[in-house]
Amino acid sequence: MKTDLKKPPAMRKFTKAIHAGGLEHSIYGEISVPIFQSSTFAFPSAADGAARFSGKQSGYIYSRLNNPTVNALEESVAALEGGFAGVAAATGMAAVSSVYLSFLSRGDHVVATDCLYGSSRVILESELSRYGVETTFVDSSELLNIEKAMRPATRMIFVESPMNPSMKITDLAGAAAIAKKHGALLAVDNTFASPYLQRPIEFGADIVIESLTKFINGHGDVLGGMVVTKTEEHYNRVKKIVSLFGGTMDPHQAWLILRGLHTLPLRIEKAQENAMKLAQFLKTHPKVIWVSYPGLPDHPQHKTAKRQMDGFGSMISFGVQNGLQGGITLMNSVRLITLAVSLGGVESLIEHPASMTHASIGLEERQEAGIVDELVRFSVGCEDFEDLRDDLDQALNLIDGYKIKQPARLHAETAAVAEPGC
Ligand SMILES: *Cc1c(COP(=O)(O)O)cnc(C)c1O
Repeated sequence: MKTDLKKPPAMRKFTKAIHAGGLEHSIYGEISVPIFQSSTFAFPSAADGAARFSGKQSGYIYSRLNNPTVNALEESVAALEGGFAGVAAATGMAAVSSVYLSFLSRGDHVVATDCLYGSSRVILESELSRYGVETTFVDSSELLNIEKAMRPATRMIFVESPMNPSMKITDLAGAAAIAKKHGALLAVDNTFASPYLQRPIEFGADIVIESLTKFINGHGDVLGGMVVTKTEEHYNRVKKIVSLFGGTMDPHQAWLILRGLHTLPLRIEKAQENAMKLAQFLKTHPKVIWVSYPGLPDHPQHKTAKRQMDGFGSMISFGVQNGLQGGITLMNSVRLITLAVSLGGVESLIEHPASMTHASIGLEERQEAGIVDELVRFSVGCEDFEDLRDDLDQALNLIDGYKIKQPARLHAETAAVAEPGC
C-alpha cells in the first residue's frame, strides 16, 4: 500500500509510468507486482479485525474494499494524473457510473458534452433521469454553450476532450473556471488523451475518469476503469460508492493493466508520430474529403489542444468520398488495419459509425448529430507508418469517389453525438 520510500520524489513521465506507485518488494525482491488473487485476508487476531474495520489499523479486509494489486495500479494512475488518489473500477463505464452515483442527487442538474461516449450519455438521458437528475447536452468546444446552460441546480459539468468521434477539443481551464464560479464540479473523461498527454487536474478539474481499456492498458486484452480525484473528500466519496455498489476491479485485471501502463509513453509517442503523418497523408488523398486531427493547424481548436495537451494523440476522424458506400468499401478493403470498435491499442483499428455503431439511428438524427455518412474513425497504432499508409491508400483507391459527388465539409459540421456501441 505504501510507495517505496527509496524512490526519488520527483519523476519525469517515462519514469513515472514505470516506477510510480507499486508496492514495496517482499522478501523475495520481485520486480513485478504480485497478483494477490485472494478474495479475503486473514486477521492476526479478533482485535486486529476490529481495528481494521474501524479504520484504526491499516491492512486488508476483503478484495471488494481493497486489494494490494489493485491498490498498486490505483497509485500509479493517480501519480500520472497528479491527483490525490485513484479508485479502480471493473470497466470504464463502472468508473463513469460511480462518478454519477457519488455526486448526483435528485433535483441536480448536469451540463455535459453533447458527443459524450455513448453509454455515458445514455445513463444520463435514460437512467439518471428516472432518479430526478436532469442533463443539458451542449457542444462544449464553445465555452459560451456551457456557461449558457448553467443553472442554480447545476452540480456537475461533465466533458470529454478530445471528443468522440468529432475530435473537437474542450478548453479545460475555461470549463473549470465556469464550474468554480457556479459551485459545480468539473469531471473530465480523459480516455482519448490519457494522462501521458493531458492531466485535467492541472487545469482545475475535480474528477478525472479513464477507461483503462483504451490507451493505458493498450493491448486490446482487458477492460478496466479508474476515477482519480483532486481532493481526499471526493476520493472518500467515490471509494465508498465503488465498494458499496461493487463495480470493483479484479486483481488479475489490475496486474495486466499495470503491465500495459509501463509502456504507455512509448506507445503513445510512436502512435501519435504515425497519426500526424497519416493525417497529413489523408489530407492530400483524392478520396478523402476532410480530416479532423487536433495536430493539424486547420483544426478549429488546434491552439487549445496545443495549450492543454503534451501531444495530439493518435485518434483521427476523416470523411471519404461516396458517403456510406465509400465508408463500407474502405472497411472491407483494409488488410492490415483491423475493422473493430475500441481504440488506444498497439494495433490500428478502424470503424465506420454510420454503418456500424450508429446504423440503428435514423438518417436524419444521425446527420443532425453530425455523424455524417462519410465519417470514418481511425485509432492509429504502433505499426510502421509506411505500412499503415500503404494499407489505407490501397483501400481508399477502391472507393468509387465520383459517382456521388459530396460537398466538402468542415470540421464544425462533423460534431457527433453518442455512440451507443463503443
Ligand atoms: C471506451 C470508453 C468508455 C467506456 O469504457 P469501458 O472500459 O468500455 O467500459 C468511456 N469513455 C470513453 C471516452 C471511452 O472511449
